[in-house]
Amino acid sequence: MSSQSTIPTTETLAARLRGNYGHMDGTALLEALLESELGGKIMMTSSFGAEAVVLLDLVAKVDPTIPVIFLDTRRLFGETLRYQRQITELLGLEDVRIIRPDTGHLENIDPDDMLFTKDTDQCCEIRKVLPLNAALETLQDAGFIGWITGRKRFQSGIRSDLDVIEASDNFVKINPLAQWTDADIKDAFLAKNLPPHPLVADGFKSIGCMPCTERTPDGLDARAGRWAGQGKTECGIHIDLKNTVFSIN
Ligand code: SF4
Repeated sequence: MSSQSTIPTTETLAARLRGNYGHMDGTALLEALLESELGGKIMMTSSFGAEAVVLLDLVAKVDPTIPVIFLDTRRLFGETLRYQRQITELLGLEDVRIIRPDTGHLENIDPDDMLFTKDTDQCCEIRKVLPLNAALETLQDAGFIGWITGRKRFQSGIRSDLDVIEASDNFVKINPLAQWTDADIKDAFLAKNLPPHPLVADGFKSIGCMPCTERTPDGLDARAGRWAGQGKTECGIHIDLKNTVFSIN
C-alpha cells in the first residue's frame, strides 16, 4: 500500500463523507457511517481513561462488535486495567483487542522498568508508539479505514475547528465528540449512569501511565498532571506510518 495511492483516496473519501455526514455527531454520526461504505471497516482506540466510557458507550450502542484497541503499556495503573475489564463487561463490548509492547524491546531497552526516569521519549516509543503502529498496520492490512477517536475541540492542543470526519494518519478519522463541551460529557455520565474511572474521584482528570501521571492541580488543564514538571505534554514521538506522519499521546 503506497502513500501515493492511499493518501488521496483517504482524503477524498473523508471529504465525501464529511459532505454527507459532517453536520452530525454522537450516535447519529456513528450510525450513519456504519451504513456507509465505511461499514465493517471501522475501529476505535481507547485508553479507558477519565472520560473514555462516554464514547465507548456510544460505540457499544451502535455496534458492540466494533474492534476497540486498548494499549497496555505495562506501566498503567492497576485501577485502569480493572476498569477496562469492568467497562468491557458492562457495555457488552465484544472485540476489545489489548496490545502490549514487544517483550524483546522491554528486556533489551528497559529491563528494570525505569527507563521513564532517564528518557521518557524512548520509553513512550517502545511502550506506546511501536506497538500501536504495528497494530494500526495490521488493521490497515485487514481493510480497516475508519478510526473513531474521542478528541474534542475544547481540549487543549486540539484544533478549535476539528472536523467530525477528517483524513489523518492514513485513516478516515471519526470524531463523534468533536463538538461536545465539558458540560456535555458530564451530562452524559449522569444521564446514562456511567461509572467513572476510579482515580477521577481521587483527583486525576487525565490518566496515563502510573509513573508519569499525577493528580491534576486545581484550576489547571486536565492534562497538567501528565509528565508534570517535565515540559512534556505529548508522547513526543512522530513516526512514519506507511509514509504518513503519525502521532499519539
Ligand atoms: S508515559 Fe511514562 S511510563 Fe508511559 S510509556 Fe511514556 S515515559 Fe514510559
